[in-house]
Amino acid sequence: MSAETTTPRLEIKNLVRHFDGRRVVDDVSLQIRAGQVTCLLGPSGCGKSTTLRMIAGVEMQDTGEIWVDGKLVCDTVFRVPPERREIGLMFQDFALFPHLSVADNVAFGLHGGSKAEKRARVEELLTRVHLINHIDDYPHQLSGGEQQRVALARALAPRPKIMLMDEPFSGLDNRLRDGIRDETLALLKEEDTAVLLVTHEPEEAMRMADEIALMRSGRIVQQGAPYNVYTRPVDRAAVAFFSDIN
Ligand code: ADP
Ligand code: MG
Repeated sequence: MSAETTTPRLEIKNLVRHFDGRRVVDDVSLQIRAGQVTCLLGPSGCGKSTTLRMIAGVEMQDTGEIWVDGKLVCDTVFRVPPERREIGLMFQDFALFPHLSVADNVAFGLHGGSKAEKRARVEELLTRVHLINHIDDYPHQLSGGEQQRVALARALAPRPKIMLMDEPFSGLDNRLRDGIRDETLALLKEEDTAVLLVTHEPEEAMRMADEIALMRSGRIVQQGAPYNVYTRPVDRAAVAFFSDIN
C-alpha cells in the first residue's frame, strides 16, 4: 500500500476553540502518518499550543474531531481521556522528576510487561540517546541538553502512536540545539511515530519537518513540503515570516 492509502496516525478535522469570545483556533485540519514529522509553524500567539493541547486532551475543542489510527478519540460529545490516547509529550518546561533516577524517569510511563522487559526498553533508549552511562544518575547531575534527551527517551518509552512536541528545544543553548535537533529527529524516525512539532522558528521547521503547516491567527494558511513552503510563500506575510532565516 502506498503512504496515501494507509490510515493517518493522527487526523484532526475542523478544530475550533474560542477564548473570551475570540477564535484562537479557527477550523484547523491536519493529517499525519507514521514516520512523518509535521511542523506547526507560526508566530507567538497564533494558536499552536492550544491546538496541541486539544490533541493531547488537556484542552477541549468547541467543535471538531480528533482521530488516532482511524479511531475517534474526541468530538463534542465523546472524549478519550489524555492518558488513554497513546500520545507522548515533550514540552520545553516538561521537567524530569527530580527525585527519580534517569532509569526510573524513563521507565515512568511503562505499564505492563515484566521488570526485565522494562529494563531492556530503558537501556535501549538510553543507549540510543548516548546516556547509558548516566542510567543511575539523577536529573540534577545532567546538563540541560542531557536532561532533554532523557525527556525524549521517557516520552518514547511506551511507544506512543503520536509524539506532540511544543517548542522542545527553545530552552537550550544555541550551540547545543542543532545537534539535539538532529539526534531527536533520527530517534523519532527509528521509532516510526507520527510527530507534531510546534515551533515559532522557521529554521527549526526547515531542518526537521517532512511537512510544514504554516499557521497565522488561528488558521493554517499554507501547507506542504518545507522547500515548497519556503520557495513559494503564500503571501507577503509568509515572506516576512521566513525572512528571519539566514
Ligand atoms: P502559541 O502557542 O501559538 O503561541 P497559544 O495557543 O498559546 O499560541 O495561544 C493562542 C491565543 O489564545 C493567545 O492569544 C493566547 O493568549 C490565548 N490563550 C491561550 N490559552 C488561553 C487561556 N487558557 N485563556 C485565555 N486565553 C488563552
Ligand atoms: Mg505556544
